[in-house]
Amino acid sequence: MRGIVFFVDSQAKKKVTVFDTTLRDGEQTPGISFTFEQKLEIARQLSSIGVHAIEAGFPASSQGELETVKAIAQLGLDADICGLARSRKEDVDACLECGVDMVHVFIPTSEVQRVHTIKKTCEEVLEITGEIVSYVRDHCDKCMFSAMDATRTDPDYLIQVFRTASESGATILNVPDTVGVYYPTAMKQLISRLASEIDCPLDVHCHNDFGLAVANTITAVEAGASQVQVTVNGLGERAGNADLAPTVMILESIFGISTGIVKEKLVETSRLITRYSGIGLPPTYPIVGENAFSHESGIHSHGVIACAATFEPGIMTPEMVGHRRKLTLGKHVGRHAVKQMLEDVRLQPTDTELDRIVEKIKFIAVKGKRVTDADLYEIAESIMGIVNGGRVIEMENIAVMTGNHVIPTASVKAIVAGKESVFSATGTGPVDAALKAIMGMLPVRVQLKEFNIEAISGGSDAIGHVTIAVEDEHGRIFDASASGDDIVLASAEAMINALNLLHRVEKPV
Ligand code: MN
Repeated sequence: MRGIVFFVDSQAKKKVTVFDTTLRDGEQTPGISFTFEQKLEIARQLSSIGVHAIEAGFPASSQGELETVKAIAQLGLDADICGLARSRKEDVDACLECGVDMVHVFIPTSEVQRVHTIKKTCEEVLEITGEIVSYVRDHCDKCMFSAMDATRTDPDYLIQVFRTASESGATILNVPDTVGVYYPTAMKQLISRLASEIDCPLDVHCHNDFGLAVANTITAVEAGASQVQVTVNGLGERAGNADLAPTVMILESIFGISTGIVKEKLVETSRLITRYSGIGLPPTYPIVGENAFSHESGIHSHGVIACAATFEPGIMTPEMVGHRRKLTLGKHVGRHAVKQMLEDVRLQPTDTELDRIVEKIKFIAVKGKRVTDADLYEIAESIMGIVNGGRVIEMENIAVMTGNHVIPTASVKAIVAGKESVFSATGTGPVDAALKAIMGMLPVRVQLKEFNIEAISGGSDAIGHVTIAVEDEHGRIFDASASGDDIVLASAEAMINALNLLHRVEKPV
């Protein structure tokens, strides 16, 4: 299904390439420092999803940075590897030493930056631009030139600078909205003018200070830019850069422009960066946020069960971006969603039973507690009078050892499908060891996707509420929770609940 109102047919034949700067601007996010191995892994992931160019770093900034960019350039990835350089020969030399495919040189062009940072006149900036671009092109096939703070630069002067760069051999010109002050109509005017007056491909680098980074980026493409600069999860200086996932999905789903990005890996890529950066996304974040395809209200859930496009964009589905659609159980839940979720695990309550189940869920939810799938089945079974319906694992004993000079170790004894089973595992801490020991008892491979713990009351004897999500081999995710005054035991119990849930869904009809 195509967008009914918005699909812009005139754009569809355009070619847009994606330049990712997660490893450069993204790493300049306050508080973020990726390790060497993480940077290599991020570069591999970006190339595997079809990003055309990766800005791997700023080699002149430190020896460590140089070594990292060099190592990324040596991976032999499909994506072009780019290094950033100020307009100085030694910076360009550092990039060349790394063996990058492209050198990205920049110089401030706005009056405020020119006067206060490099202290050069307009004429000097023009001269440096010509020299440095020629120098890059003498040693490298691809040169991106950035007029830093372009959007606050006098447009006539900006044209002179870009023309100089283009005539000196720049292969692409970048228009950075360095401090994020532009808005779409202004961007449209500027890019249209540059595209008509300069014969060189254009790229944009938009910051999100006013929340317009993605909108400005898309508008630049509409006006004639052929490359977009993005970061995963919108990381970057201050409020960050244009985010990869929405930029790609708007171009693809609304404009019908093929970016060549493997869209099914957008969620996976976002989660990798969340893990490495330690910066989580709000659940309501577009496309990759936890709730991007979740429905709670009765009207919405009912509609989505009948036809997903009723309350989703339709031109973008969870499958397209590697996400999952979820009907969640909250105070706005409706009968249809609950009925559907129970039928999925072959529970068929009568109408009266269903009413009571829904009532009970709402009763729990209004108290502010999250109702997991496991809670739903337990509620349904108790109301339907089913005893121990789907539990194949019952924990008998758990012993955990931890301390400052021992490796945390857990041993678990449980009855698994009627047979006694014992398993031990070590971990980075007692909870990790306990969860690994429990997961080890099952023949199926599962992965822990989420682990959350919150204190229900204050003090060191507080009741902890643990919520976990595990993923099976088919990519299905099961949530479960447990509470208790011992967080290791509560975590173990939550894991047992999740595994029982998984087993219930696997059960043959
Ligand atoms: Mn930037």
